[in-house]
Amino acid sequence: MNSIETYPPPRVPLRPVLACAEFGNRGQVHRCPTVLDAGEIAQVTSGRVAVALALTALKLPPHAEVLIPAFHCSSMVEPVIWTGARPVFFRIKPTGAVDLEDIQARITPRTGALLVAHYFGFPQDMPRIRQFCDARGIALIEDCAHAFFGSVGGRPLGSFGDYACASPWKFFSAYDGGTLISSRHSLGQIRLVSAGWRYEMKAVINALEQSFDYGRLPIAQAILRWPLRTKDALLSWVKRRRAQPSPDIGPSALDGGFAFEPAWVDKSMSLISKALIRLAPNERVADTRRRHYTRLAEGLRDIPGARAFQRELPQGVIPHVFPLFVDAADTVFPALRRRGVPMLRFGEWLWEGVDETLCPTSASLSRHLAQFPCHQGLTDDEIDWMIGQIRETIIASRQSNNIQRVA
Ligand SMILES: *Cc1c(COP(=O)(O)O)cnc(C)c1O
Repeated sequence: MNSIETYPPPRVPLRPVLACAEFGNRGQVHRCPTVLDAGEIAQVTSGRVAVALALTALKLPPHAEVLIPAFHCSSMVEPVIWTGARPVFFRIKPTGAVDLEDIQARITPRTGALLVAHYFGFPQDMPRIRQFCDARGIALIEDCAHAFFGSVGGRPLGSFGDYACASPWKFFSAYDGGTLISSRHSLGQIRLVSAGWRYEMKAVINALEQSFDYGRLPIAQAILRWPLRTKDALLSWVKRRRAQPSPDIGPSALDGGFAFEPAWVDKSMSLISKALIRLAPNERVADTRRRHYTRLAEGLRDIPGARAFQRELPQGVIPHVFPLFVDAADTVFPALRRRGVPMLRFGEWLWEGVDETLCPTSASLSRHLAQFPCHQGLTDDEIDWMIGQIRETIIASRQSNNIQRVA
């Protein structure tokens, strides 16, 4: 087995941490729609739990088949297996759009539901997909894990599916957060219980810790109106908690784990996460994400050997991240990690059996696509630093490649 290289922590935060920019919604009119406006909601601890609840609510017959895109993460597959259904993978197109012809070819009398994801915040053609499902009597689950914000034809994302799921923790400085949404069915039958005070504490401490790590604490403290004097006591308390980690307090999903844990299916979102999501200045968050995305797109344009996954940022799209396709992925991605550049690799691990024969696009994206943060907690200087690092690394990898070829 290869030894696994360990990388330094990212020099700038991969996702938002507690800071001024995370607050300010009180009394503000929501002009920027979110999945919370899309229908009835239930607030749970993670997106995968929301997927599981959606599948349960559909009451699929035993051995039903659920259509899942070949470009996915395990959070989209594990809940399907947990409910006893069978995942059937379908192709996506190079643009990230689901391939309806391929889906059509995979429909059987057992097909119960279709799961589609708005990759990185870019909406699928929902009116068309909705029509497709209605014509065939198939339920539609809309995966808004990357699309907390956004709308299509004036309708918020999350309102097209029979059920939709979201992962608000990916957009805010919240430790946990999954949302089940339905504009078509009542969620009244879903009973959630608190995960307990230790979990609530963990959610608070984790949010603070992330902020401490990036020196954003002073601002957060002022906002939270905690007397500055408690800062040291709080810090040493957090350190003591760190010395004796209790991994069983929260779902492993939230500590970087990939497993689906049925024990979390009936637990409600932590109170602090609910508050952070409600207090978020949606308009400002959305504008900042679009601005950072555009800055990254411009800064990374014209590098030989790399291109933006999406050519444009249409109106109404609020990106989760900036996805970049890199030819020399095998050398560039580890090099970027060594430099402390924050990066996600959605789809890096595909389910067993999903390969280039099943979907060439997914296999290629799995290997060559990385996502860089464009969240509201970053400064322009930090975005520029990332652009500089990415450019340098890609250009250096091409030069060393050429040298090797000459030698
Ligand atoms: C993150 C994610 C989910 C849900 O994951 P959680 O980590 O459980 O919140 C579902 N679908 C997609 C596309 C995702 O990226």
